[in-house]
Amino acid sequence: MSRTITSVVGGSPVTGGSTHTDVNPSDLADVVLEHGEADVAVAQQAVAAAAQAFPTWSRTTPWQRSEVLDKAGSEVLARADELGDLLAREEGKTLPEARGEVVRAGQILKYFAGAVLQPHGHQLDSVRPGVDVSVTREPIGVVSVITPWNFPIAIPAWKIAPALAFGNTVVFKPAELVPGSAWELVDILNRSGLPEGALNLVLGRGSSVGPTLTTDAAVNAVTFTGSVATGRLILDAPAPLGRKVQLELGGKNPLVIVDDADLALAVECLVQGGFGSTGQRCTASSFAVATDSIHDRLVEAVQERLGRWSVGDARTPGIDMGPVVDPSQLRQNQHYLDVARREGGEVLGGELVELDTEGHYMSPALVLGTSAGDTINREEVFGPVVSVVRVADYAEALAVANSSAMNLSAGICTTDLATAAHFRRNSRAGMVMVNLPTAGVDFHVPFGGRGDSSYGPREQGFAAIDFFTTSKTAYTLPGSPRN
Ligand code: ADP
Repeated sequence: MSRTITSVVGGSPVTGGSTHTDVNPSDLADVVLEHGEADVAVAQQAVAAAAQAFPTWSRTTPWQRSEVLDKAGSEVLARADELGDLLAREEGKTLPEARGEVVRAGQILKYFAGAVLQPHGHQLDSVRPGVDVSVTREPIGVVSVITPWNFPIAIPAWKIAPALAFGNTVVFKPAELVPGSAWELVDILNRSGLPEGALNLVLGRGSSVGPTLTTDAAVNAVTFTGSVATGRLILDAPAPLGRKVQLELGGKNPLVIVDDADLALAVECLVQGGFGSTGQRCTASSFAVATDSIHDRLVEAVQERLGRWSVGDARTPGIDMGPVVDPSQLRQNQHYLDVARREGGEVLGGELVELDTEGHYMSPALVLGTSAGDTINREEVFGPVVSVVRVADYAEALAVANSSAMNLSAGICTTDLATAAHFRRNSRAGMVMVNLPTAGVDFHVPFGGRGDSSYGPREQGFAAIDFFTTSKTAYTLPGSPRN
């Protein structure tokens, strides 16, 4: 019998209703767990519970909030092996990737435990004599946190930790495919000392509970990571005007490789950035832009490297790449390969792979011979698919890189300092990497893109306070000065 998990509202499990079976994408015969599916009524109760908990939680001291986050961070870190195993089992990334993600979640909780104790306000002299001015940061209220399946614990942590740290209460809806990691995170935080209702979990379908979580009058802010289509729905939905919205959407991330690049390093950047986590990262290096005289050497070396790239059960030690998350993502990957072929590209690899256990396996795919404007180089595939485009020189490479509509992360491989500096200055991406994959970021600095990739203030690190608080400017005339 598999375990059944449920939504959590006001600190209590929500029983009853239909259940959903979650299977392991590496082995479809393995049931990871069952989860009770929340409906609109549960979503409404969760919002009400968060609203009710807000006066209590928002009046706690920064030290009290810091202690909760620190304790939760310690537990997440201490249980990294176990939680990493669950994550690999429900999402399909390899064990080292999954464990690394859990550690990241623990680090984020610890970071915000410290961040909330830092000074955030200003005390100024007024431009009017005798008046004091102070600018303070205050929580916004109830925050809906809506997350995708590809980082089942790190993305929730980087939204929930700052939301709670700065005194907000939360309704959290994880993606349908990965309820287990989400449930564990909520359980750990609730046992670490949160008052009832400060953090609520809604395990429901986006299409059913989403509108309540994004438009209910008691919701003051929505932070969302997911597809461009859903992001647009959220932005356009009729909601109270004062609602804050933060969206992290897709990425089509160019990795420019110029003639003077260190070839071995460029290959690692492309292979790790493109195929790590089965390419299911919004920062994936899915679009390589190679200058003419390195293009063929690069393709040959990448092919050689992929010959040693193993695909298998996410929890098999030493494996390079796990399965695709589910059948619909697998269909989407194959669809984009078909489109690339139709548009004149050559596809190497990308075949469905059959192993001893039935899972959603495919080999890494390299797409060659397309031009920058082709579909494969414009749209996000979100799978183990990397396209390499040939350009004449660095100037053309930069123009092509900057033509991406989803400018989340852009990289360059070069040994020339001047080229690196020029790219850093002139790239139109939100994040720029030099001699690094486009994926792989720190937790203490801002994360986000430009164009269709992001909306609203940046996430993570010292930037998080901008979204998760609102400022108050107070003017005080202390009265006649006493002698
Ligand atoms: P993905 O392709 O990563 O699944 P989605 O945008 O479909 O991207 O899903 C991201 C998150 O948004 C998931 O938690 C999903 O359940 C949720 N979601 C889907 N539809 C809606 C909606 N209409 N309103 C709010 N959230 C939604």
